[in-house]
Amino acid sequence: MYCDSIVTGDAGWIWHQVLEDFKTHRKLRKHYNSIVGAPQANKFFPDRQIYDGKKYLDVGLIQFGRGCKFACSFCAISSYFNKQQFVRDLDSVLEEIIMLKNKLIFFVDDNICADFEALKDLCRTLIPLKIRWVSQGSMDMTKDPELMELLVKSGCMGNVIGFETINPSNARQLRKAPNFFRKDFSLYEKEVGTLRHFGLQTWAAFTLGYDNDTRDSILSTVEYAIQQKFCFAAFNILVPYPNTPMYKKMEEEGRLLFDGKWWLHPSYRFNHCSYKPKCMTPDELTELSFECKEKWNSWKSILYRYFDTKTHMRNLVKSAIYWTYNPIYSKENFSKQDMYFGIYNHLDKEKGLIHKNETLLLNPDLSNIDDIKPKMKNHNFTIEDNVDLTLNYEKQTTTV
Ligand code: SF4
Repeated sequence: MYCDSIVTGDAGWIWHQVLEDFKTHRKLRKHYNSIVGAPQANKFFPDRQIYDGKKYLDVGLIQFGRGCKFACSFCAISSYFNKQQFVRDLDSVLEEIIMLKNKLIFFVDDNICADFEALKDLCRTLIPLKIRWVSQGSMDMTKDPELMELLVKSGCMGNVIGFETINPSNARQLRKAPNFFRKDFSLYEKEVGTLRHFGLQTWAAFTLGYDNDTRDSILSTVEYAIQQKFCFAAFNILVPYPNTPMYKKMEEEGRLLFDGKWWLHPSYRFNHCSYKPKCMTPDELTELSFECKEKWNSWKSILYRYFDTKTHMRNLVKSAIYWTYNPIYSKENFSKQDMYFGIYNHLDKEKGLIHKNETLLLNPDLSNIDDIKPKMKNHNFTIEDNVDLTLNYEKQTTTV
């Protein structure tokens, strides 16, 4: 491992204990185990002053709920929260929103509409505040006209929605109930029509590399997204997250690459394929995903998508959102491609995998430095034999 202490579960409920241990004893326990699923510890609000003067988007991040009731086969959220959603007390959410200074709020929920009635209550609470907000939600929101009305009235500008695939033969593998709830699947025509009718600007999230995906089906996905004139879109390769049904199945089938642990592997790079797809090679899938991003982010595509009077041209605010964030996301898309993960991203490739912040890595306060040492040696990171790695305090093994 690359840390000397680990918190599992929802950190908000135990973080004060971690800080207390550090302040009082200068010791951390090896493992802090918190509860899973309870929404944000309501008494504590984040101190957002730490963002002042830094280059963050002018968007206020806040959480209404955690988790999701669905059981999509690839989803780490579903596995972690055991197919449940937990929402916060509305008074506390309201109090936190009033403290925010941002003009736009992003509810960073996993699926804000996992419970329609809870979301309706939130919307009713938001209406008098006259804020603008965005979030992440599932496609089935379009089934409920009252919910759609309330979303708009409460200031919702749009949502990230997991379209995942336009190829119905992938439905069985995905097991995404909110997308395939009707028998006559026709490229989400009705659902997209409803979103446009209400003027919501959609961020369509697609995942590429299902068992029935071919080069043609993937390229037709990006063409579809451009034709629908979505505001934003993502074309990410399917990722087998540990403990998900999809991971377990691929493991059984012997299809996982990087020793089945892509997130720890020194060669794994962001948005690269980490398993053996059925209809192409892993490298072909990686390249195809990049090709989709290039097509989507081209100026031709951005200009074409803008001309939609029901969404981006509906008013000046929506127009401003379109033109402010499209160039930002486009740049970010390319800058993240091929990034190394975690500690490997901080290795200086030009100097032969020497860590950029050697002093931090060799800080003798790190109680697990002995664990790090042999692992790093494997990857040509040399630690001189005469460096003093004596710990300042004895190892703590107590668990909570
Ligand atoms: S709807 Fe979204 S958040 Fe919910 S289980 Fe499926 S992928 Fe996960």
